[in-house]
Amino acid sequence: MPAFRAPRGTRDILPAERRVFAHVEGVASDLADRYGYRPIDVPLFEQSAVFERGVGAVTDIVEKELFRVSPSRGEERERWALRPEATAGIVRAYVEHGLRTWAQPVRFSLLGPMFRYDRPQAGRYRQFWQWDAEAIGDPGPGVDAELVELGLRFYRDCGLPDVGVKLNTIGDTACRPAYVADLAGYYRGHLSKLPTLERRRLETNPLRLLDSKEPAMVELNRDAPILWDRLCDPCAAHFAGVRTHLEALGIDYQLAPEIVRGLDYYTRTTFEFYRPGAEGQQDALGGGGRYDGLVELLGGQPTPAIGWALGLDRVVNALLEIGTDVEGEPAPVVVVVGADPEDTASRLRIATAARDAGLASRADLTHRRLGKQLEGAARDGAHFAAIVGDELAAGQILLRDLPAGTQRSVAVGDLVKELARADRTHRHG
Ligand code: AMP
Repeated sequence: MPAFRAPRGTRDILPAERRVFAHVEGVASDLADRYGYRPIDVPLFEQSAVFERGVGAVTDIVEKELFRVSPSRGEERERWALRPEATAGIVRAYVEHGLRTWAQPVRFSLLGPMFRYDRPQAGRYRQFWQWDAEAIGDPGPGVDAELVELGLRFYRDCGLPDVGVKLNTIGDTACRPAYVADLAGYYRGHLSKLPTLERRRLETNPLRLLDSKEPAMVELNRDAPILWDRLCDPCAAHFAGVRTHLEALGIDYQLAPEIVRGLDYYTRTTFEFYRPGAEGQQDALGGGGRYDGLVELLGGQPTPAIGWALGLDRVVNALLEIGTDVEGEPAPVVVVVGADPEDTASRLRIATAARDAGLASRADLTHRRLGKQLEGAARDGAHFAAIVGDELAAGQILLRDLPAGTQRSVAVGDLVKELARADRTHRHG
């Protein structure tokens, strides 16, 4: 047993997996650039009030999962929390920097870790990564469809072409309250069938009962009242507009009244992305929605906005599961080895010159025998070994083609040129 381990619910991402992450992050930032979602970073922690007010004080995320942080000195009266999601922080930044004076909407993209003090399970961590995109200052419905399409393209470009989207609307403050009251009435009529957690949620957030995975609830929800029939006119028109735009893009979507999202700030459009065959599982790959009230809630002017967060850990897990071929470790073109076990300085100097020329090269800096160094170079997958020996005094070095097993003498001054040429020929077949 090691003396220390990564904290429960966190994990180390070792190089092979980190490469898959980098691949996925690369897809995300390329797409963000192409779609005009501009990069932003916000702190990993904020005043807790940003999340309490922004995400909602009675949501699971704030009530049960917020990672509260207390500094060991100074600023003791401040209450901080690690960010459980990015939207509240981005909106706080939008208000703080007066970004409503920029051309609207402002589109943002953020990639980074989020923290939730949840019970760890498969695919559920206390530190996990999200790609977050927000379009602030656009009432939609076109931008709603743009974001749904962007999410689906991301999964496709990552190598998960089958991911689908479930779509819903949760109305707004004009039509939702009456509906929620009816819904609560319906559940109260079946109180004895409600599991404990749902009974408690009925008092705080009855909408959440719609996405319960409890078998008793799934049964009950089949006959629950649906909001679609009771939307106010503007919400109905918005929902129809989102659908028209999705259809114009040829996007298949599934209407799903259970997609209510756990966060308080949503209005109208809500959606989640799922892998086919995994819909029954607890967890979506990503999700988002419109939050027309949030900017105002965090102290700004009333501003319509929409965004989503896509969980990267689950995408990486899915890619590893299906064995997607992500480019592996790049092999060095050359490993510089030496006949004199002690002379590591010459090796390092030559490898550095090759790196100056942009070549992937390494120096063997051990004091092993030459034979062992050559074995190491082959194990690293290097194409060449540059062997530093007595000939160095005469300005010569031996260049060995490892796969071919041939070698020839090359002037040190020409080595980099020779390697670059051989590397090009090698790479372009
Ligand atoms: P949410 O903000 O809860 O809608 O989360 C959006 C996406 O982030 C989810 O669909 C997951 O893919 C991912 N996610 C959320 N919480 C976790 C977690 N604890 N561990 C791993 N991924 C998560």
